[in-house]
Amino acid sequence: MPNKFARRMGTVHRSFIREILKVTADSEIISFAGGLPNPELFPVKAMDIASREVFAEIGASALQYSTTEGDAGLRAIIAKRYEGRGLTIDPDSILVTTGSQQILDICAKVFLDKGDKVVIERPGYLGAIQAFSIFEPEFVTVSLEDDGPNLEELEAAFKDGAKCFYAVPNFQNPSGVSYSLEKRKAVAELTDRYGVLFVEDDPYGELRFLGEDLPSVYSFCKTPGILCGSFSKIAAPGFRIGWVVAEKEIYDKLVIAKQASDLHTSTVAQAIMRRYMESNDIESHVALIKDRYGRQRECMVEMINTYFPDSVSITKPEGGMFLWATMPEGFSSMDLFDLAIKDKVAFVPGRPFYTDDSGENTLRLNFSNSDEARIEEGIKRLGKSINSFLE
Ligand code: PMP
Repeated sequence: MPNKFARRMGTVHRSFIREILKVTADSEIISFAGGLPNPELFPVKAMDIASREVFAEIGASALQYSTTEGDAGLRAIIAKRYEGRGLTIDPDSILVTTGSQQILDICAKVFLDKGDKVVIERPGYLGAIQAFSIFEPEFVTVSLEDDGPNLEELEAAFKDGAKCFYAVPNFQNPSGVSYSLEKRKAVAELTDRYGVLFVEDDPYGELRFLGEDLPSVYSFCKTPGILCGSFSKIAAPGFRIGWVVAEKEIYDKLVIAKQASDLHTSTVAQAIMRRYMESNDIESHVALIKDRYGRQRECMVEMINTYFPDSVSITKPEGGMFLWATMPEGFSSMDLFDLAIKDKVAFVPGRPFYTDDSGENTLRLNFSNSDEARIEEGIKRLGKSINSFLE
């Protein structure tokens, strides 16, 4: 009998994190596992008003099919907001997508043939690893240091014929690491020199609660790159609205891949998001999120300093939603996970974020989705698990 499934599905697994979330559904468990924004900060009332206005004013057209490129007004708003971040973006170079996750799928379709070398950070974003894996590339990983990728490894990968480099330079998922200004410039210089396509995924860039905002790597690249953004972390992920900025040659191919995938992003979701953006002060809403996440991150670091042994090191993110912990070599965070669940606390073991089965001793902690009281109690429990595990 012929194989029932396509060969490509043989190498791709269900998202480990989504599986873990099932285990952590128990309400007694304090979970730092999910990558969820804090739902207390979702603009429920404002979205309610925006959706009523949309249905009252343009009901039928909001329910109709629409263009693949996306709502013109929404694209104009996205372009205008980039001005505040020092980037001049033509609205016609913006393609609205079904979450920024869809960009990874359509980029893979557009750029990756089987065996093509794609460079990713180590550790890397699991959703990208999953999206790319279906197209059977060869992953080449570069170590992520405190200030960005190891440049020697990056250059070696580029010299070795890499086709593209996918990265999250702001408050990376999973590590929380951000690239320094020097490394942003150096990455752009290397991608230009070797003609490698740079795919910059930036869902967290606006969530900086410490330090100075830095320009995107995209802004330094002379070779046309790709810049991805999302409303998921600044408004709400349930709408599934993201976007990609690309120059015409690439843009046209992304449009074709998106058409084949879903024709266009939900018309009604875009209409409501546009109305919400027009009628509300999104900048003060983002300020509110940053203030809350900043305090939650502060609390998590303080509690870790109190309850974790000194042999566990952590990143100290200046924004975003995650921090990353590393235990001494030889200890497995998968084994720690079982112990922690018994102590009613959860995290994500680091290994799925590596494509080479390393990272055994690492773990990801989410600080956006728990208030300070839960962070204090959860880190106390985890400290207890780690202390008895490392004994
Ligand atoms: N990229 C990164 C780095 C992410 O962390 C996420 C969310 N987990 C996404 C993309 C996808 O986000 P969305 O599809 O909600 O825009």
